[in-house]
Amino acid sequence: MPSEFDLIARYFTRPTSHTRLGAGDDGAIVSPSPGMELVISTDMLVAGTHFLSNADPEALGWKSLAVNVSDLAAMGAQPRWALLAVSLPEADEAWIAGYARGFFACASAFGVDLIGGDTTRGPMNFCISIFGEVLPGQALLRSGATPGDEIWISGAPGRAALGLAHLRGLCVLEEPALSGCLEALHRPQPRLALGLALVGLASAAIDVSDGLLADLGHILDRSGVAATVHADRLPDAAARACPGHPALARQCLLAGGDDYELVFTAPPGRHAAILDLAGRLDLPLNCIGSITRQGTGDLTLVDAEHKPLPMPSRGFDHFA
Ligand code: ADP
Ligand code: MG
Repeated sequence: MPSEFDLIARYFTRPTSHTRLGAGDDGAIVSPSPGMELVISTDMLVAGTHFLSNADPEALGWKSLAVNVSDLAAMGAQPRWALLAVSLPEADEAWIAGYARGFFACASAFGVDLIGGDTTRGPMNFCISIFGEVLPGQALLRSGATPGDEIWISGAPGRAALGLAHLRGLCVLEEPALSGCLEALHRPQPRLALGLALVGLASAAIDVSDGLLADLGHILDRSGVAATVHADRLPDAAARACPGHPALARQCLLAGGDDYELVFTAPPGRHAAILDLAGRLDLPLNCIGSITRQGTGDLTLVDAEHKPLPMPSRGFDHFA
């Protein structure tokens, strides 16, 4: 049976590229780039809550870091370092090796050094803290939206929730939509290139972890504004993936979490620059509505004739 220290040395220690002192001591030492601000975030993945206990370890390794990278992307920050606290019921080396493969694949894809962590026995749980850099005062906040701004969404939201609905037997997806939705669920792509490019363009941003309307709602609350979203301008990937269940597809699009797309706002004068960015990044960016007035976070969904539509239940809340 490998010891805790064998596991750390074998699976969670890799050469670093921009770290003064990584794992192995009581603390890590890093030097932020001169003049940069640090952006720090943490996210926990708990078996049974965020993933099924039979989840593929490699996908889980990828996803547990990817959701943290996504938080920094939403801030417009470049991720640099991460800490990994894991609790595992047993030292299943094949499982841990798979997890580490996925984790480090994501780490190298987004330039993150793993610089330490904690390893204990217990119910399966992964808690990652991530540290990134941004030019002082330039981070994208939830609080910057103002009346007149346009609202944008990246990519093809709703697919991760549809993939989960398929696994739960709520619908049957056909190929190739099935593979795309499962990929979105298991190996989400944090929109880092987009987040970094939005610095100086967007007025506010958030990543969609809990559902498009719920997360847009956080921008509205923090900015003290109200908004209208046009249902007919929303990306139709979810509807196309699941033509047999339009109501489910719509629920996944509006309230399904786990896509890690970015919702952001920007002044209308930047519309052309944002479309240009979509072309450069080869990533769909759809303008789905606008910030209408100062207010208390009211969100109105309208159809093509501007008639209000019923709002789906908003999104995921662990304590609701
Ligand atoms: P301490 O007893 O001081 O808390 P630990 O024995 O928990 O230290 O950890 C020893 C070293 O291994 C530390 O540098 C710690 O950051 C690192 N470490 C522990 N678990 C992990 C992990 N899962 N991933 C990366 N580094 C880890
Ligand atoms: Mg110590």
